[in-house]
Amino acid sequence: MIFLDNASTMRVFKNVASTMSDINEQYFFNPSALYLPSTKINERIENSRKTIAERLNVTANEIFFTSCATESNTWALNSGFKNKKGNIIISAGEHSSVYENAMAIKNKGFDVRIAPLDSCGRLDIEKFKTIIDINTNLVSIIYCSNETGAINDLKQISKIVKEVCPKAIFHSDFVQAFGKISNNCENLGVDMCSISAHKIGGAKGIGALYIKNSIKLAPLLYGGGQERGFRSGTENVSGIVGFAEALKEFENAYSVDKIAEYKNYMASKLIEIGAQINSNDCSSPCILSVSVIGIKAEVLQHMLSDQDVLIGLGSACASRSKGNRVLNTMGLSQKQIEGSIRISFGCFNSIEEIKKATTILIDTVEKLRGRIFG
Ligand code: PLP
Repeated sequence: MIFLDNASTMRVFKNVASTMSDINEQYFFNPSALYLPSTKINERIENSRKTIAERLNVTANEIFFTSCATESNTWALNSGFKNKKGNIIISAGEHSSVYENAMAIKNKGFDVRIAPLDSCGRLDIEKFKTIIDINTNLVSIIYCSNETGAINDLKQISKIVKEVCPKAIFHSDFVQAFGKISNNCENLGVDMCSISAHKIGGAKGIGALYIKNSIKLAPLLYGGGQERGFRSGTENVSGIVGFAEALKEFENAYSVDKIAEYKNYMASKLIEIGAQINSNDCSSPCILSVSVIGIKAEVLQHMLSDQDVLIGLGSACASRSKGNRVLNTMGLSQKQIEGSIRISFGCFNSIEEIKKATTILIDTVEKLRGRIFG
């Protein structure tokens, strides 16, 4: 099987899986208990928090573990409406976990503003400047698009946010960027960011939210007081320790040059058969969004799956019946959207796999176009 849907999730690293099963089977103690084995497991949680914090160039007490990035995004977004005078801004390119939360907030009567994208899939900075004002409470702009791999210039955006509205919180969804591009929150000017373990070879069901010390958020879950009282609930110990271990494994295994070679190879071959590339030149090497006009992407995905090649159709969480919000807002036509596929590369792929998958993909497109049938 050739797995080319790494933006949706990744295989868990072997070492991570064995550490996690070790914890679940042998070191299963509740970290809040006061006996020695619990103290030890608590130490492992705190070391993991430190590892993750270091990568973001923040302090450990600014990291709060959650059950997933969807939860982190929800927590961040909900911090944005304190009173009905303020407004929240998100981009049209957000993952549904930001977008749908923003829509729910809007439905409660709050002022939620959607900043458009440019044709490359990045935030349209000039239009954004016309939307933000002194009453903005929160701005949430995705770092790397899960649909196209487009990378937003967070440094530039945070500068605008702080100039126009110094009190506004700047949140970013780092899920597709974490471990892959610079995640220095201080340099980027980010006050909060969401991350998820399963995109870098950790387990599903564990995420985190970075909250800058100076920002005072209401607790997300009240209860036993875990996560310094902000997110109660017995910790997902194996998930947390596995998250930090996955980050280290991922950093060792990930080679930008190798992944870029995969993307460039496949993109160049697909261009030869008339496909249109939706990912811009400066996008993440991990994500290639392509439109094959005249083809129904679902049919192509199905036929590839029958040949053991797994690709994506854009966000796995997005309902296709609604079309594709992100590609739509980039100005793609209905035909381009219908024929859009998302190929995403990971550190378990090899160039041999990419070449084989490209041949299968092209043959399948040709079949669908009726050139080979009969
Ligand atoms: N944000 C982005 C950009 C994503 O790609 C995803 C997952 O597809 C999420 C958020 C949600 O992450 P999780 O599965 O941890 O809730």
